[in-house]
Amino acid sequence: MTARKFELTYGTMYNPPNELHDRFDAALTEVRSQLGKEYSMWIDGKERFADQKFEDRSPIDTGMLLGVFQKGTARDAVDAVEAARKAFYSWRRTPWQERVALLRKAADLLEERTFQISAAMAMEVGKNRMESLGDVAESTALIRYACDRMEKNDGFTVQMGNDPVEGYISTNVSVLRPYGVWLVISPFNFPASLSFGPTGSALVAGNTVVLKPATDTPWVPRLIAQCLIDAGIPKGVFNFVTGPGSTLGQALIDSPDVSGVTFTGSLDVGMGIYRSFGKGNYVRPVILELGGKNPSVVSRHANLDDAALGIMRSAFGLQGQKCSANSRIFVEEPVYDELVKKLVENTNNLVIGDPTRREVNMGPVINKDAYQDYQKFCADLRQHGNILTGGKILTDGALGKGYFAAPTLVDDLPLDHPLWQQEMFLPISTIAPIHSVEEGLKLANNVQYGLTAGFYGSQEEVEYFFDHIEAGTVYANRPQGATTGAWPGYQPFGGWKGSGASGKNSGGVYYLQLYMHETSRTLVKKA
Ligand code: NAP
Ligand code: MG
Repeated sequence: MTARKFELTYGTMYNPPNELHDRFDAALTEVRSQLGKEYSMWIDGKERFADQKFEDRSPIDTGMLLGVFQKGTARDAVDAVEAARKAFYSWRRTPWQERVALLRKAADLLEERTFQISAAMAMEVGKNRMESLGDVAESTALIRYACDRMEKNDGFTVQMGNDPVEGYISTNVSVLRPYGVWLVISPFNFPASLSFGPTGSALVAGNTVVLKPATDTPWVPRLIAQCLIDAGIPKGVFNFVTGPGSTLGQALIDSPDVSGVTFTGSLDVGMGIYRSFGKGNYVRPVILELGGKNPSVVSRHANLDDAALGIMRSAFGLQGQKCSANSRIFVEEPVYDELVKKLVENTNNLVIGDPTRREVNMGPVINKDAYQDYQKFCADLRQHGNILTGGKILTDGALGKGYFAAPTLVDDLPLDHPLWQQEMFLPISTIAPIHSVEEGLKLANNVQYGLTAGFYGSQEEVEYFFDHIEAGTVYANRPQGATTGAWPGYQPFGGWKGSGASGKNSGGVYYLQLYMHETSRTLVKKA
């Protein structure tokens, strides 16, 4: 019997072969020997430097300078959009098969560099090594998935019915065509897949791209940008700028030459972008992937070991800084005490520390603001609820050099407390007992968000959950993660309500079409 090849997804990452660890360790040594370099922007096929720079430091140890980046200005935004606009004509006329071939080449380069880029990710974001490898592998998968969809749909050219006009023959074809310059703005938590999933789709579809990553995490996107550059992406087709969202980002959003945007980040910034973008002369597509306040519901019929494991993983993976993090937990009363006990036990077994180390589950939170928010939230929760575990920052030894915070579970918090509604984006989850699954689902849906949700219970209850939950990505009875762990081609990922705007999920069969508009072509000749 031949061993099945290991496929890294967020669902399989808990038991990787040793080889994966060896390669990560080797890459880490290599990347560590090159810290502190200066990195350029990339505009119109050339490196671009700005007068002002900013430092990218590790949240593991703020003394560790990872790289120096360009503080791009409104001028750089204008130049990047102009370069993309100029390159659009020839890129859209490049046969889609050639675009696919080029993107596949970039994906192959990215795959070759997976371990180096993941090592950088662990230091830059503070993700543990398996989550870091996952984010990079997901980027490759998302680019390839976009290529696959283009091929499966034969470039999205569809022969339509020919209308029966007496004396004429008409030939009718529907074609999906790219919009123009596509802007991609990405968040800090998945700097690989949330930058290059949208970028890959936009490019395969025939748009040209300007990408602006988060200021906390420019390094990983710059390293992946190099894969596109090394694959030979034509000048102007892909542009990369770094700098503050409030100035550079806003200048990009305000440009009338941008035809569409994919923004992934918080609800507030996303709604601001939506409103700014709406000030143009006509409606342009806005793909928003926003925050979450994701619930899990545990019924009295649940397998409590699976539930306690899946909830712990989704609450505290990446330190609770996932849009899909399980931040609200509702448990039927008869099993409440037992579930809470198991959950606290699992949580207390988590290893917190330098996330580049093999045995570590949880690294630091992203920056000083997040670290201070954590302390503020914990003070509020201590006053109004009951802290079951955690509730404090961790400063012993080397932990004092970074932004480490204990995973925190809270119960007895009144259901009308604002922290049941607000996305904290930290390793903090609140728990409440419920009298029935119906009540649990009402509470689960009682938020402005609708990204992911999880359920543990009987088959019949699962049907009820699937039917009633208001969320775009939902899971039942899953020990690998209650509300997290989507993978392209397996679990299309996206949100409803305040969690997303397009109603179509990334890594799914309806996503690539969002980057194209339809032309219906009718050609008539006399019969
Ligand atoms: P954020 O603060 O909203 O920032 C996201 C991006 O927007 C960054 O690149 C930021 O640049 C930029 N930006 C800020 N203001 C801007 C403006 N006025 N115009 C244009 N761009 C602007 O989000 P974050 O803290 O990085 O990420 C966490 C949030 O992302 C959470 O709410 C999380 O739920 C959400 N998220 C959603 C998904 C999803 O798929 N639904 C996935 C991951 C994360 P600077 O960094 O320079 O400020
Ligand atoms: Mg940083």
